[in-house]
Amino acid sequence: MASDAADGLAVPLFEATVARLERLTAISSPSGDLAGLDRMADALGTELGARGFEVSIERPDGRLPLLHARRGECPAPLLLAGHLDTVLPARAPQRVGDHLLATGAIDMKGGFATLLGALDLLAARGAEPPPLALVAVPDEEVGGEISRRAIAEQGARARALWVLEPGEARAAGETLVIGRRGMLSWTLEARGRAAHSGLAYWEGRSALAAAAEWAVAATALSEPGRGPTVNAARLVAGDAGFVDALAANADLLRSGRQVNVVPDAAAVEGEIRFLARADAERVDRSLAAAAAAIAARRGVGLDYRSFGEIPAVEPTAAGRATARTAVEAARARGWRLELEEERGGISFPNFLPDPAALPVLDGLGPVGGGMHTRGEWVDLASLARRIVLLADLLEREARRAPGEAGASA
Ligand SMILES: [Zn+2]
Repeated sequence: MASDAADGLAVPLFEATVARLERLTAISSPSGDLAGLDRMADALGTELGARGFEVSIERPDGRLPLLHARRGECPAPLLLAGHLDTVLPARAPQRVGDHLLATGAIDMKGGFATLLGALDLLAARGAEPPPLALVAVPDEEVGGEISRRAIAEQGARARALWVLEPGEARAAGETLVIGRRGMLSWTLEARGRAAHSGLAYWEGRSALAAAAEWAVAATALSEPGRGPTVNAARLVAGDAGFVDALAANADLLRSGRQVNVVPDAAAVEGEIRFLARADAERVDRSLAAAAAAIAARRGVGLDYRSFGEIPAVEPTAAGRATARTAVEAARARGWRLELEEERGGISFPNFLPDPAALPVLDGLGPVGGGMHTRGEWVDLASLARRIVLLADLLEREARRAPGEAGASA
């Protein structure tokens, strides 16, 4: 065991993987840096090409690189997803004991290094991975129009989606992500009646008071635990001239001027986060009903609209089965893997055309800390464990893969 970096991983293979991660993290590829993203796509493409992948680079927006890589013929491959971009430009990586301090160390060049290490480990075992498709996107950290389309397209023909984003460290182990919340955006527009607050106060109908009452009622629909949450993110109110031309009138704020008018306009915007679609529908209906009731009582027009639903990723039976396999595989190697069923942030699995149709494993990358900061680091012991885990999982998948030589199913 002393000659192993982790149970099942020889030190030379591990050290080669760490050196590879140092090279990848030394490439500065912040979102929007075309030259840097190109260098990162080339470096990753070269590594994948050396491991039997057919690599192509597309430029969906005419500019930024989107890397596709395939290995093995299969109409429905296992889809792997990751991103080439980082939030910050790179600094020289630094190894400090069992940590590698580097830009994108966990988010998420560490995930790519895990994959390359796992492929090398399979080769060392004389084993083959299942047919794989990989997308590496350039814009995950900045809203991800290219990410969304790439996952929607590739996800439509994949048989599972595995994401190389980092897991999380827990007191007694590390996590894998199998569920993510979805999101439904909404706006509320309020129109009341302006009036001089000194001369004709009772003739006014305050859009501000109606919108504020509604916003309080809206956030009160949030439920702790696995329930839905409602976030009223912004509320702007005042006379219609102010609200409708906010940028031009910003100097009125905190000026003490023009506060003698009952405000006739307001706008609120925010979102619902949910695990179950039924929760989103129920909260959406409650928000519309609250708007109707408050509008009637206060004599104010309230127009509630919801839009832009991003589906939740609810763990499927098949997803749970794969996750249990992963937990078992980790246990067999002497460490503890826990499942995160409701990570809050929107990510790759949310962009699938139907997240309920595919088994999803997310958070396969190594754990560490300081994500999106100058102090980002990866736990190298975790990197070693994750390499073995991914190799073990890929080897199992290869045995199950349809159309593969030796497949049992
Ligand atoms: Zn990330």
